[in-house]
Amino acid sequence: MPKEISLVLSPKQAADKNLYLPIAARKAGISVSQIALARVLKRSIDARGRLPKVNLTVQLFVDHEPEPAPVHFDYPEVSRCPEVVIVGAGPAGLFAALRLIELGFRPIVLERGREVSPRKADIARINRGGAVDPDSNYAFGEGGAGTFSDGKLFTRSKKRGDYNKALQTLVFHGANPEILYDAHPHIGTDKLPGVIARIRQTILACGGRFVFGVRMTDLIVRDGRACGICCRRTDASDSFQEERIEGVAVVLATGHSARDIYELLYRRGVRVEAKPYAMGLRIEHPQALIDRIQYHMPERGEYLPAAAYSLVAQVGGRGVYSFCMCPGGFIVPAMTDAAESVVNGMSPSGRNSVYANSAIVTEVRESDYGFLREQYGELAGLEFQRRFEYAAREQGAPRQVAPAQRVGDFIAGRHSQTLPRSSYVPGVASSDLHGWMPPFIATSLREGIALFGRKMRGFVTNEALLIGVESRTSTPVRIPRDPVTLQHVEIAGLYPAGEGAGYAGGIISAALDGEQIAEAIATAVK
Ligand SMILES: Cc1cc2nc3c(=O)[nH]c(=O)nc-3n(C[C@H](O)[C@H](O)[C@H](O)COP(=O)(O)OP(=O)(O)OC[C@H]3O[C@@H](n4cnc5c(N)ncnc54)[C@H](O)[C@@H]3O)c2cc1C
Repeated sequence: MPKEISLVLSPKQAADKNLYLPIAARKAGISVSQIALARVLKRSIDARGRLPKVNLTVQLFVDHEPEPAPVHFDYPEVSRCPEVVIVGAGPAGLFAALRLIELGFRPIVLERGREVSPRKADIARINRGGAVDPDSNYAFGEGGAGTFSDGKLFTRSKKRGDYNKALQTLVFHGANPEILYDAHPHIGTDKLPGVIARIRQTILACGGRFVFGVRMTDLIVRDGRACGICCRRTDASDSFQEERIEGVAVVLATGHSARDIYELLYRRGVRVEAKPYAMGLRIEHPQALIDRIQYHMPERGEYLPAAAYSLVAQVGGRGVYSFCMCPGGFIVPAMTDAAESVVNGMSPSGRNSVYANSAIVTEVRESDYGFLREQYGELAGLEFQRRFEYAAREQGAPRQVAPAQRVGDFIAGRHSQTLPRSSYVPGVASSDLHGWMPPFIATSLREGIALFGRKMRGFVTNEALLIGVESRTSTPVRIPRDPVTLQHVEIAGLYPAGEGAGYAGGIISAALDGEQIAEAIATAVK
């Protein structure tokens, strides 16, 4: 039987097998030479004390015990199996496709954006000159919104599906096996595109199909049942040719930035529902400052990773919280239309940029956008979000230069005469954010950030910058589904999935939701 040993180590000890194995062997009552294999099962950092410690759980295989084989997935050939149309190649769509293959269905994945490789060029164009391709950008394209991201893989909804299997699937497709044991696993923007491309190759090798550069424009409903979609090519050349693609079910995994999909459904009388969501700004500090605060030492040294934080406060009964924190990362332009200013965060696998960024958002309730209800109905929250993004664009400068303010100035309600350097490549322009944001957002963020400054001494500083706006943390619209069959509440055969449907938030929870949808389809169709 392998032995599981828990160790509390210094960062230097935890980084070197030659240092921690003798300690583990001693604790297990064996000699190092008896260890045939040592596997790390869990790793987390505890920075609460004076000096940061690393908690490491290792599994020791002694002498000739059989070593566990790496997890292998055998995906069957499905080219002659019933076809399922999946709209959207984000985590929900891709994991639905993989699970459908396991269950004996042929996925046909439609994606408005481009494959990961050419998508990089579209993203570079936004950063260089501010040109935004409305179909291929940080939100749209193969791999979905999280492809060029930090690739954080933790989720609060682990119970919803097989979290470990989802991580194993990513490792099988090339992710670093460390994600299997890190307490806060992440892949990194330099590695994610390769993982996504390998998932595509798996799907194709089994007989699945991908169609890139096509935008869903309509839903085909026969006798109250969704049986396919209409789509158009996104390149201008043959933009008027419409194609119909049919299948035994339609998975709608289009993410929360696909406003055209919400508008299409609403126009067609397919039920959608307004819901609360969150908006705010992105904050950026020097990483060294966050390291100093979190690790209580002048420098983090070579063995500790860039420090992270997670903050939450209540302001007048409204939640304010940090979200999608990217240590050692970059702020990126995540708009889907050049008329908007939308920012988000990402980081490479080494998390080695000199900046730390995070969304700081507050709740947006249905009552906050109630004044838009009469005109926009269930899409009122979407309109409120759009107006926030348009206002931010007007407050910035051409070429996607974003409006920004120093944190101390924002809290004091003061104009920033100068701005510190930022990781945001298109650039930043000084703007009185407190002056033009909806007052409830400005007030909640100002008071919330001030409270964060009490929890993390040094967090409120004019060395830090607020950049606008962080508006796409969650969807303002739900596409409601039956809790048992997971089909749309009114249209059989239509399966709203992932973040855009309002049933997930983040890469892993969207992936798990996609898997669940695949299982629901198998139950309904077989
Ligand atoms: C910069 C950035 C960083 C992020 N970092 C993280 C992170 O570190 N960790 C984390 O958990 N989450 C992160 N997220 C959020 C995460 O990416 C999403 O929660 C997740 O991708 C949602 O998955 P999804 O499959 O539901 O939708 P999406 O990933 O949004 O995928 C939807 C897909 O549908 C396609 N589509 C939309 N409309 C149509 C149409 N009409 N026709 C055809 N195709 C269409 C889109 O092009 C897109 O590829 C980040 C997001 C961004 C933008």
